[in-house]
Amino acid sequence: MSSSFALYIHVPFCEKRCIYCDFYSTTSGGEVRQRYVEALCRELITQRELMGAGEVKSIYFGGGTPSQLSIGELAQIFQTIRLHYTVNPQAEITFEANPDDVTNERVGAWQQLGINRVSLGVQTFDDDLLTVLRRRHTAAQAREAVRSLTEGGLTNVSVDLIYGLPLQSLARFTQDLAEAFALPIIHLSSYALSVEDGTPLSRIIARGELTPADDELCLACYEALIDAASQAGFTHYEISNFAREGYHSRHNTAYWDGTPYLGCGPGAHSYNGKDRRWYNLPHLANYLQSPGTPPQEVETLSVDEQYDDLLFTALRTRRGLSLQTVADRFGIHRLDCLRRQAERQLAVGNLEEENGVYHLTRKGIFISDTIISDLMA
Ligand code: SF4
Repeated sequence: MSSSFALYIHVPFCEKRCIYCDFYSTTSGGEVRQRYVEALCRELITQRELMGAGEVKSIYFGGGTPSQLSIGELAQIFQTIRLHYTVNPQAEITFEANPDDVTNERVGAWQQLGINRVSLGVQTFDDDLLTVLRRRHTAAQAREAVRSLTEGGLTNVSVDLIYGLPLQSLARFTQDLAEAFALPIIHLSSYALSVEDGTPLSRIIARGELTPADDELCLACYEALIDAASQAGFTHYEISNFAREGYHSRHNTAYWDGTPYLGCGPGAHSYNGKDRRWYNLPHLANYLQSPGTPPQEVETLSVDEQYDDLLFTALRTRRGLSLQTVADRFGIHRLDCLRRQAERQLAVGNLEEENGVYHLTRKGIFISDTIISDLMA
């Protein structure tokens, strides 16, 4: 493999756990965090050869809470990356941050390290809801974080919002959208809350102490999201992602356009761009016990699975599914099958074909999962 690739770094630390979250992270810190940085740097070196001679076109620090890392720890990680990888000078380098970790000093230091994009976990501007969710920050801190970032020169700022939260009305989410778009952000990611088994939220709901939003309310929030983003001049470039023209997330786009990616850190996923996926087990203690060679699960994708992957990722995006790509990668017979399977969705206006590319329509985007599974192998 020698094409360019995306690099993901999983930082598995959070100061405290939010009640809805099922991402892999722990609340350990201090000495454990330093051991993690050592193990991560070892892994970055040992895994390098898997990606061949290609250069890194984007780097994404996700978590967990990457902004829990000290500047010294981050410098050690960046030094390892720059020593062992060829990073494209124009690479997008995104850093997920919690609003209350953003300070003027850190904004300056992050930029000096090369970070040029920040994704802020705002989730809502409703302080009562933030407390219910056990988020660490307040709405005022979220606004202040955006101000510190942009005034400090880190202007490529994305905000995350959640809809479908318990106790959140359509009016409240509409207010969140208005507050987000009033800030100098250039990207917004917004997802419906998914209540995952094993989270504190799922137990709270099971006890009847909170009620999840129903499908009708989630749909209304999604409609409001699409309309507000459009009015703010943002392009709806992926089901849950909106950006000013030219500011789509290049790293996340790599996941959707089949670019190979290497993930380092416990729980991080990798893909060779064709038929092989692998991921580090989400277990920090095991990760630290075998620095550089973490326990992994590997999956070899059948041709049908590769085809389903292409459908699932391409149809999520505004770029859509190129029929020529289907023919080139999977043959004319597969393309004929796809055309037959797509007839019904095209006829009812959930899907449209434009210049040999299938796109979800605005109507179709609301039932994207159903349409995509309808077309899969
Ligand atoms: S800060 Fe993010 S990763 Fe950490 S518990 Fe909350 S939602 Fe999960």
